[in-house]
Amino acid sequence: MVNTTIKTTKSQEIFSAAQNLMPGGVNSPVRAFKSVGGQPIVFDRVKGAYIWDVDGNKYIDYVGTWGPAICGHANPEVITALHSALEKGTSFGAPCALENVLAEMVIDAVPSIEMVRFVNSGTEACMAVLRLMRAFTKRDKIIKFEGCYHGHADMFLVKAGSGVATLGLPDSPGVPKSVTGDTLTAPFNDLEAVKVLFEENRGEIAGVILEPVVGNSGFVPPDAGFLEGLREITTEHGALLVFDEVMTGFRISYGGAQEKFGVTPDLTTLGKIIGGGLPVGAYGGRRDIMSMVAPAGPMYQAGTLSGNPLAMTAGIKTLELLQKPGTYDYLEKITKKLADGLVEVARETGHATCGGNISGMFGMFFTKGPVHNYEDAKASDTAKFGRFHRGMLEHGIYLAPSQFEAGFTSIAHTQEDIERTLQAAREVMSGL
Ligand SMILES: *Cc1c(COP(=O)(O)O)cnc(C)c1O
Repeated sequence: MVNTTIKTTKSQEIFSAAQNLMPGGVNSPVRAFKSVGGQPIVFDRVKGAYIWDVDGNKYIDYVGTWGPAICGHANPEVITALHSALEKGTSFGAPCALENVLAEMVIDAVPSIEMVRFVNSGTEACMAVLRLMRAFTKRDKIIKFEGCYHGHADMFLVKAGSGVATLGLPDSPGVPKSVTGDTLTAPFNDLEAVKVLFEENRGEIAGVILEPVVGNSGFVPPDAGFLEGLREITTEHGALLVFDEVMTGFRISYGGAQEKFGVTPDLTTLGKIIGGGLPVGAYGGRRDIMSMVAPAGPMYQAGTLSGNPLAMTAGIKTLELLQKPGTYDYLEKITKKLADGLVEVARETGHATCGGNISGMFGMFFTKGPVHNYEDAKASDTAKFGRFHRGMLEHGIYLAPSQFEAGFTSIAHTQEDIERTLQAAREVMSGL
């Protein structure tokens, strides 16, 4: 059953050619395997919980195109819906009824969202929400947390987690100081640090933006009371609370982290799952704030392909599938088995690790933990993770190629997939 050696000749050929064509051979940095060593495998096709590379090797996938594939890759119902939508055209650049359908589904599901605007990526959603925070409060400063990623816009590339953390770039050249000067940072799960920033910048802070459950410096859940505390502090200072649920929305529960933890922010960003594998982002929230967005109000934001019928169709079908009873219980059950199993296997084979999951989002660090923030996460043995990653790949298991990324399951993953994964982990960890 388990591959112990894999041939990746074609992957290697294609990837070396790619390196002359695109920076680093990829169109998004983390795909390049820089932090785990070795060369990336080049995919040929995906289906359900599995991927096949161009050499014909099959893998159980725990990246799920970084989150969107929660119903399994190339879900037959999503594909069928897309085929019919395609017949009617790919983009209208004008209103279409499907936008209303997805908007209503999002508004019904996500507690904070009374009105929504669709865009084309999570990055775009976060850029727009920042402009909106500033427009509404007439203040410029924002607070973000170390290790939280909100897309690649200039103002957010400060202690930004994800690829930036993986590649060890403290920041990025090309981002002017004048732009990040208004971005204040605090450690995740540190309410005191946030209070101090509010005291030192009285009346100047537009709001606080965070991943309510961090996925971009590995999997880091909020401590009890942290989200509630942020809600209180922001309200007290007339500032806005923004949950970036691009990753957690429709992932850790149907209504996202805000439903799961019962804390309602003023604004929310979404992406990944709501596009069902097509490029989509969204931002939404309180009606009085969203009414500032053009053309209802003066805050400008626009998009040629925003709300296109294909992306709306994939999103609608994906959310419909997620509404079926038992979805999130199933995701919790298999993912808990995986996350607990990995830590258990590591303990039995003598490796210090910690990890966990909420619904279909999980993570494991090669450090004894506990991990409450990015500083703690950095204590991980990343060289060991690199060897673990390579070993798992050779056993037919595809994990995110970085210690600082969360993993994802889907409703297409079976108990047997999880068992095979744990068996592979046991073999790999025994030899680490
Ligand atoms: C992925 C992600 C983004 C960026 O979304 P893109 O679609 O890649 O631009 C923003 N915030 C969070 C929390 C994310 O996980």
